[in-house]
Amino acid sequence: MANIQKNIEELRKTIPNNVKLVSVTKYHEVEEIKEVYSAGERVFGESRPQELVKKQAVLPKDIEWHFIGSLQTNKVRSIISFVSLIHSVDSVRLLEVINKEAARCGRVVDVLMEVYVACEETKQGWNGDELVDYMESEQFLSLTNVRVRGVMGMASYVSDTEQIRAEFTELKAVFDRLGAGRADFDILSMGMSGDYQIAIEQGSTMIRVGSAIFA
Ligand SMILES: *Cc1c(COP(=O)(O)O)cnc(C)c1O
Repeated sequence: MANIQKNIEELRKTIPNNVKLVSVTKYHEVEEIKEVYSAGERVFGESRPQELVKKQAVLPKDIEWHFIGSLQTNKVRSIISFVSLIHSVDSVRLLEVINKEAARCGRVVDVLMEVYVACEETKQGWNGDELVDYMESEQFLSLTNVRVRGVMGMASYVSDTEQIRAEFTELKAVFDRLGAGRADFDILSMGMSGDYQIAIEQGSTMIRVGSAIFA
């Protein structure tokens, strides 16, 4: 049995007050997630729409649910009425579908743009320059039911901490470029169990931690 309460207490000692913790509950059962809730956490992240819908239905209603995984456009409708933040917007089409579905239920939904910085084969997310251009376009500015709160990214899964640091530094630079002159652009979601300390040193404001909680 994992000592969830103790893991969370240890984790909190290493996180500054200005950094928000998202407890990543993917692959974990409702009973385990309740322990995270009992330890006082209220912001949970899931990476599959069906899992998110199922867990949201049975867990306490004061939980803030974040979607952190790859999101297919045909799954947006299932989560749009209750999701608090979508971290993983990786295309124009996805953002437009989120906007349309949010409008349908009378919401303005907070999202992050996923920026690609890692040196890995599975390139998911925006290139920094493309994103800067897109966010100045009419096409983007006409979307009234999404609010882009910042960016999210993942470093390469490597042991070289200097490479990880360099990738987070790049992500922070994209965040700063986009944030200049934009209101409510205040979330830099970077850092997971293995690299969140480096991410915080490089300016992260939100970390997504799973295995360190459930270990
Ligand atoms: C699973 C996942 C995490 C959490 O990873 P851990 O290494 O378990 O902390 C963070 N972000 C995303 C996008 C994930 O899919």
